[in-house]
Amino acid sequence: MSDTFKAILVSRDAEKKQSVEVVDLTEAELMEGDVTVAVDATTVNYKDGLAITGKAPVVRRWPLVPGIDFAGTVISSSHPDWRKGDKVILNGWGVGETHYGAYAGRARVKGDWLVPLPEGMSPHDAMAVGTAGYTAMLAVMALERHGIVPDRGPVVVTGAAGGVGSVAISILSTLGYHVIASTGRNAESPYLIGLGASEVISREELSQPAKPLAKERWAGGVDSVGTHTLANVLSMTSYGGAIATCGLAGGMDLPGSVAPFILRGVSLLGIDSVMAPKPVRLEAWRRIGTDLDLKKLSTLSRSIGFDGIIGAARDIVEGKIRGRVVVDM
Ligand code: NDP
Repeated sequence: MSDTFKAILVSRDAEKKQSVEVVDLTEAELMEGDVTVAVDATTVNYKDGLAITGKAPVVRRWPLVPGIDFAGTVISSSHPDWRKGDKVILNGWGVGETHYGAYAGRARVKGDWLVPLPEGMSPHDAMAVGTAGYTAMLAVMALERHGIVPDRGPVVVTGAAGGVGSVAISILSTLGYHVIASTGRNAESPYLIGLGASEVISREELSQPAKPLAKERWAGGVDSVGTHTLANVLSMTSYGGAIATCGLAGGMDLPGSVAPFILRGVSLLGIDSVMAPKPVRLEAWRRIGTDLDLKKLSTLSRSIGFDGIIGAARDIVEGKIRGRVVVDM
């Protein structure tokens, strides 16, 4: 095995102008950690797009190897839980933000950050799920904890053709929910129906400034868009319902009113995948193993090689990526 491996490095100059290049690294140049992993597969998440393009301040250590998640094989470990040859997954924990990440042949991380690759799942499949899919599962679990079961009524998924949205639709429909998918790409309706959406609505229905309360349309939802979309989704949530908020693809603000909360008892459930405690991660990955149809997973993902990462990162921030992009290293 070669001593060097390819990596993507983002840097910035004295004027804080960001650049990205492909470099050769050695293991000695990796950051501290007690487990070294050969990266078998990774993926391009929205956050990775922001990190590589510099469109939002995701990178907080310079220079940095981006890439917030990977599936790989342990090369060496001084952590009691992991041995050479173990198959592992990493999501978040600041990897790809403050710690060298997945866009390299190897990664060195803390063993406490890793979870085992679920039985029967390949590294490729795990990254077809990726952080977006694991976050979708966290959102579904949050809705369930709040009692939003299929009998309560429809659920809405915004940013439907994106990564979080696509996996959320797949999981929710497999669990028996009536899923309303909201997309800005109407041409993707057949794709969304194929994933299990019962109805597809246009993004425009939810993107205008929200009324304090509107007609009740759903009992719950998974929102990865934020801003007016989330405000509208809340205003249309039925009595006692709940919305899991995951993302900000449309914007970070929340220009709504307290009316849904105080007049309809609606709840807003915050979802964070980055620092989620290990037991929650283990449960989310266990549920992904049981509740996500692997056939649907293959329809919602496509593969690229290492050389395609930078282009895919640019595309994802422009909303051009459908579903999930897996990087087979
Ligand atoms: P994607 O880019 O794959 O999906 C986002 C989707 O949002 C797009 O496909 C598009 O869907 C929709 N969208 C994009 N731009 C706009 C816009 N201006 N207005 C309205 N809708 C828009 O990203 P991911 O699914 O990977 O991530 C989604 C969000 O979730 C991101 O903000 C990401 O940072 C966040 N996230 C948060 C996590 C957490 O821990 N909380 C973890 C993972 C992701 P369509 O074309 O169907 O309308």
